[in-house]
Amino acid sequence: MLNIDLHCHSTVSDGLLTPARLVEHAALRGVNVLALTDHDDVTGLAEARIAAREKNITLINGAEISVTWQGRTLHIIGLRINPEYPPLEQGLASIRAGREERARNIAIQLERYGIHDSLEGAYTYTEGQLIGRTHFARFLVEKGYAKDIRSVFKKYLVKGKPGYAPHQWATLNDAVSWIRGSGGQAVIAHPARYQLGKNVLEALLHEFRDLGGVGLEIISPSHTSDQIKLFAHHAQRMNLLASCGSDYHGPGESYFDLGQLPPLPAGCIPIWHNWNIEQK
Ligand code: AMP
Ligand code: MN
Ligand code: MN
Ligand code: MN
Repeated sequence: MLNIDLHCHSTVSDGLLTPARLVEHAALRGVNVLALTDHDDVTGLAEARIAAREKNITLINGAEISVTWQGRTLHIIGLRINPEYPPLEQGLASIRAGREERARNIAIQLERYGIHDSLEGAYTYTEGQLIGRTHFARFLVEKGYAKDIRSVFKKYLVKGKPGYAPHQWATLNDAVSWIRGSGGQAVIAHPARYQLGKNVLEALLHEFRDLGGVGLEIISPSHTSDQIKLFAHHAQRMNLLASCGSDYHGPGESYFDLGQLPPLPAGCIPIWHNWNIEQK
């Protein structure tokens, strides 16, 4: 039986486990095909690949790219990408540079609210080259501003709250082009999370498909069982392939553990249907 998990994060972005530890954890959980999909960064893939070989796991090269589309932030997952494709590498590097600028803006916002030294504090939680809101969240929890990551986001880090800084990410066209150009497949991550109205969702699905996007993430901890059914229906209707992922960030910070996913609804075509996965 294949146990496939196509969405998770390591310390290279905002996960808690190093790429090697993450792969070891996946192996313990019975995963045999794992995509590492760090935010806007592919540098964990080399280490993950070595660990995967040791654990007999098929590692899929992935990334979760931050995009601004019609004024909203979307996440586009690239699967089976070539991490050495220069336009992809350069594009991700420029997103990471933008993250540093946003982090300074978040810290300025928090400073105005009387929370000091949050930039330095957030950076103490980074291990790779990437800074994100999760690092601020861990710092704010450490300082006692909220009891856990989820509530600190709600209180401080989302739109309308004291530590929110708006930001312009890559365009949808750029993200899909980098993924496709590198030989990969583009997937819209956790589509229900964007709370798009019917017409906006329709526009997104059409534009994404016209750009060459091929997949929708159907199974995600961000989705209720009704949303799983609804997006399975959209995928079938739009001829999009179905993906699944735990969006695992580490022990204690994730709703789904690695490899503990419900099956895709009947009628979905899995994105891995023609991958020729070698059963190990
Ligand atoms: P960023 O890309 O830096 O804006 O951060 C996005 C990341 O923050 C997501 O990938 C999650 O790991 C985390 N995140 C976003 N919203 C929440 C939330 N409401 N509760 C917990 N974590 C969240
Ligand atoms: Mn994250
Ligand atoms: Mn995401
Ligand atoms: Mn994610």
